[in-house]
Amino acid sequence: METWLTENQTKNMRLSLRIKEILHHEQTEFQELVVVDTLEYGRMLVLDGAIQTTERDEFTYHEMIAHVPAFAHPAPKRVCVIGGGDGGTVRELLKHPSIEEIDHVEIDGKVIEASRKYLPTLSSGLDDPRVNSLVTDGIKHVESVENRYDIIIVDSSDPVGPGVQLFEVPFYTNCYRALAEGGLLVAQTESPFSEADLLVKAYRNIAQVFPQTKVYLANVPTYPSGLWSFTCGSKGPDPAKAPEKVEFATKYYTPEIHRAAFTLPPFVQELLEG
Ligand code: SAM
Repeated sequence: METWLTENQTKNMRLSLRIKEILHHEQTEFQELVVVDTLEYGRMLVLDGAIQTTERDEFTYHEMIAHVPAFAHPAPKRVCVIGGGDGGTVRELLKHPSIEEIDHVEIDGKVIEASRKYLPTLSSGLDDPRVNSLVTDGIKHVESVENRYDIIIVDSSDPVGPGVQLFEVPFYTNCYRALAEGGLLVAQTESPFSEADLLVKAYRNIAQVFPQTKVYLANVPTYPSGLWSFTCGSKGPDPAKAPEKVEFATKYYTPEIHRAAFTLPPFVQELLEG
């Protein structure tokens, strides 16, 4: 008998993947946590029915959410990752020798535990001595910090459950205060096809707080529509500024892709200006 996992991507669209094995299933304090092994995309983390990451396509998302701000900032030392319990964003940030400290703030310790056990290629960096793991609410964390980080990355789940306030102005205002001079915020801001309202809301909210706000795009095949957006708020550096070359191996990110990702198709530009 075949087993399939189906994600309701919108009210009218579903994505189904055939499953080899259900590796883990639990209800945590915050969400339903599932790890499955799929035939097409390898192991996959699913929270409250929403696909978070898969072994086969995670590199596009994690390289783009980490390397764009880490290269746009002239010399990042202290970084905060909010969410990202799978470890993929932390793994990519650790490739930057200037980064001395990463505060990894994930609300649900069970996501970290499951990733350590079932997704070792993503979670491999979580034990690095530069990583300070804080199992707490990222919203509360940024309330208590001032002038500390060069980069804040919001690697959150969709704005449901514990992720709702991560798309709101008070949170972005606290991020602004938590950033040092010349600091950069980057947030995953959903799909311009299936969640255009959320992208527009996040963009406008970030633009209320930061002097410079830019959106960039990348392809993540297992996310709704496959076209994904990230929004940067900057206190100084141009987020679209790419390095001349990259000294480590990447599978998606290149300086050319960094620059090109900020060139938005007219339909996205119109959404943001609308
Ligand atoms: N790449 C993914 C995506 O776009 O779907 C995000 C992956 S990561 C697993 C998302 C994480 O954000 C989850 O583990 C969730 O527990 C965490 N999260 C949600 N709200 C949070 C909050 N308020 N503070 C810290 N972490 C939070």
